[in-house]
Amino acid sequence: MDDAAPTDNIVEIENLTKVYPVRGRSEDFIAVNDVSLVIPRGETVAIVGESGSGKTTTARMLLKVIDPTSGLIKFEGKDVSTLSRAETRDFRQRVQPIFQDPYSSLNPMFTIERLIAEPLEFYKRGSGSDRRKRVRQLLDDVALPQSMLRRYPSELSGGQRQRVAIARALALSPDLIVCDEPVSALDVLVQDQILRLLGDLQREYGLSYLFISHDLAVVRLISDYVCVMKDGSLVEAATSEEIFTNPRDPYTRRLLASIPGNELNIA
Ligand code: ADP
Ligand code: MG
Repeated sequence: MDDAAPTDNIVEIENLTKVYPVRGRSEDFIAVNDVSLVIPRGETVAIVGESGSGKTTTARMLLKVIDPTSGLIKFEGKDVSTLSRAETRDFRQRVQPIFQDPYSSLNPMFTIERLIAEPLEFYKRGSGSDRRKRVRQLLDDVALPQSMLRRYPSELSGGQRQRVAIARALALSPDLIVCDEPVSALDVLVQDQILRLLGDLQREYGLSYLFISHDLAVVRLISDYVCVMKDGSLVEAATSEEIFTNPRDPYTRRLLASIPGNELNIA
């Protein structure tokens, strides 16, 4: 076996840190501070924390949008900072993002068909007719009617747009999806539908999720493991069951107590 043999963890993050210099100050700002976590294959790991706690910065490092200041990110056992050009191209297909606001990430001039086909075209997957077939399959996967193909993003509801964003993220058959506040812009009923869809897709395709949210009530519905972040650091990481029944850190307890109607009511 070579040292890049697959493990049960699709992602292993070790001592990840991101430091930003602050203009006019000698001390740097630590956006992410020594964070370690793993994502078991086929499971959902949530990062939860208040705004500014470093969740998106962590996601952007995992997506290779920004480089860590220090620490290590391993994807299937391999340090992603050492990937060759070809390996990076492969990584970018296998790890896909979904963001909070699909409207800003969907070109308003493109039809839904073109938007969903875009990743397939960019990576030259299949023939034109293969791609047309794949787009129709993807619409089915996210439970949108075929009549959506000719529509434009502005004609869709928020929930429908997020389904289009999910179809785009699925197009290249990824292994890992990094969801950064994917339901935060939606009302509660639609949130529920999108979370159920993400769960169904995970079971169907064996997807692994890093699921980021400021909202523990949302996290409870989807996560297997929960990492609680505060001011750039992890304050607690445990199974979802543990976090919601036996939270150890006072900060986690405070977050839990702030869920409306939370019968646990620990504070
Ligand atoms: P979250 O997603 O949890 O709301 P972020 O990861 O977006 O938090 O941000 C964490 C902290 O890092 C915030 O205080 C933010 O202002 C800061 N930050 C993020 N990106 C930059 C940057 N490019 N330069 C300076 N500070 C940044
Ligand atoms: Mg964020």
